[in-house]
Amino acid sequence: MNGLMMQQPLLISSLLRHAERHHAEQEVVSRRCEGDIHRYRFKELAARARRLAKALRALGVGEGARVGTLAWNTYRHMELYYAVSGSGAVLHTLNPRLHPEQLAWIAAHAEDQVLCFDLSFLPLVEAVAAQLPGVKHFVLMSDRAHMPADSKVANLLCYEELVEAQDDDYAWPLFDENHASGLCYTSGTTGNPKGVLYSHRSTVLHSYAAALPDALNCSARDVILPVVPMFHVNAWGLPYVACMVGAKLVFPGPGLDGKSLHELFEAERVTVSAGVPTVWQGLLAHVEAQQLHFSTMRRTVIGGSSCPPAMLRSFQEKYGVEVLHAWGMTELSPLGTVCTLKPAQQQLDAEQRYAVQAKQGRAIFGVDMKVVGEDGAELPWDGKSSGELLVRGPWVLSQYLKGEGGDALLDGWFPTGDVAHIDAQGFMQITDRAKDVIKSGGEWIGSIDLENIAMSHPAVAMAACIAARHAKWDERPLLVVVKKPGAALSKQELLRHYEGRIAKWWTPDDVLFVDAIPLGATGKMQKNKLREQFQDHLLQGATV
Ligand code: ADP
Repeated sequence: MNGLMMQQPLLISSLLRHAERHHAEQEVVSRRCEGDIHRYRFKELAARARRLAKALRALGVGEGARVGTLAWNTYRHMELYYAVSGSGAVLHTLNPRLHPEQLAWIAAHAEDQVLCFDLSFLPLVEAVAAQLPGVKHFVLMSDRAHMPADSKVANLLCYEELVEAQDDDYAWPLFDENHASGLCYTSGTTGNPKGVLYSHRSTVLHSYAAALPDALNCSARDVILPVVPMFHVNAWGLPYVACMVGAKLVFPGPGLDGKSLHELFEAERVTVSAGVPTVWQGLLAHVEAQQLHFSTMRRTVIGGSSCPPAMLRSFQEKYGVEVLHAWGMTELSPLGTVCTLKPAQQQLDAEQRYAVQAKQGRAIFGVDMKVVGEDGAELPWDGKSSGELLVRGPWVLSQYLKGEGGDALLDGWFPTGDVAHIDAQGFMQITDRAKDVIKSGGEWIGSIDLENIAMSHPAVAMAACIAARHAKWDERPLLVVVKKPGAALSKQELLRHYEGRIAKWWTPDDVLFVDAIPLGATGKMQKNKLREQFQDHLLQGATV
């Protein structure tokens, strides 16, 4: 017997319609690529998104067509989020930090028909345009005054002119909620990048789950500033969540340095933010150096890579900003777990609470997870049995675009490539990426723990622990460290810092001080690059 409820497809356009109808006056503030601060309201966002949808249709963008973007977090990118997906086309957010060759490969693989890009990326687009024969229209996301007099890109269109040429008399179409809405590519540190194709249904369900109090905890009373780029897994879903709950949105545009961010946090009274640890490092360094504070910021979501406990302490103890440690992946839209304490854990003493918060957290409703051993059998939730983390749920991919990479699933579960354990309370902790695990004499050493200990030393700005080849043990941990500016630190002192904090045989065999650790397109440490450079370091006999 079926229930007798309405069948309404879960569509991305419904999020914007809701925001317009119920939060029309809520603000959207952006630092623009043109340099100034722009502000308008949800009602204007909605009207302009409708005009843009008409403009795209006039350009011949049909159902399922891919529209690429190369853009910072701004209101124009937000308009594209809704105009493209809402009209039935597919929003493909390209990561401008990728190598131009890789970008061209991805845009061709995705079969992008239109490419919309910010002013800052004009040189990049000029460099790759010739390799993009499938792109019929290039749209510069600015006004006529900022259009180049003479561009190498033929028939360059002006975004504001396209929007202005249309009225907003447009009704968002209704279609099956399983239609594709957005496309993101994984970073492809191994092999070619692979496309993850989201649907309207998966996006709306993900938004419901992400907004919940024990997840990102967003409401109409919040002011959300997504530092995480809209080209990195849809800014972790925040552009959708903000419309769902009616929160004020603040977009940092290209200003991701500590000073620009802090100014915006204060001026716009931001309450919630989200980003990868490397961004927060820059912000905290600025706030510390200038002796600033956060007057309105209450919490920040930190994910994308492991949040060092030292960062967690700084935010919470010095600045009163609660850290929500979260784990996710492009393949998960991206949220899988968030670390929010259960009531009994709130009663723990500070040290014990920090130990819980260092974990990546518990599954949000909709995500099912387990860890399995090498034989594929599920491991107990005892907080120590480590194995590969597998997930499933309505916003987890079922296969990559064009079936790339073969079967993405294993018996209906998605193998994440992360190594983790889960405790009796359901709190998952990542110990490593499978490809970063250090295999020492048949035993596994998790690099994240070793990095966190190094990061807890006051002289350390950044630390990566990699597997270096070893004549006797196959692999041993090698620590690569960037010191804080002006700080003095010797190898011996740093290694002494490990005493009592870790099993002795986990202690890194050597420490290399470097000026910088290479970061990838999503702000994560590129340990594969460090491995290429230093993997033979120990074989060369340079142990302590
Ligand atoms: P990529 O970085 O490859 O572009 P994603 O952004 O999808 O792709 O990254 C997903 C991976 O990032 C996860 O599989 C995991 O290894 C890592 N990751 C994400 N969040 C965390 C976290 N809180 N702690 C540790 N690792 C994390």
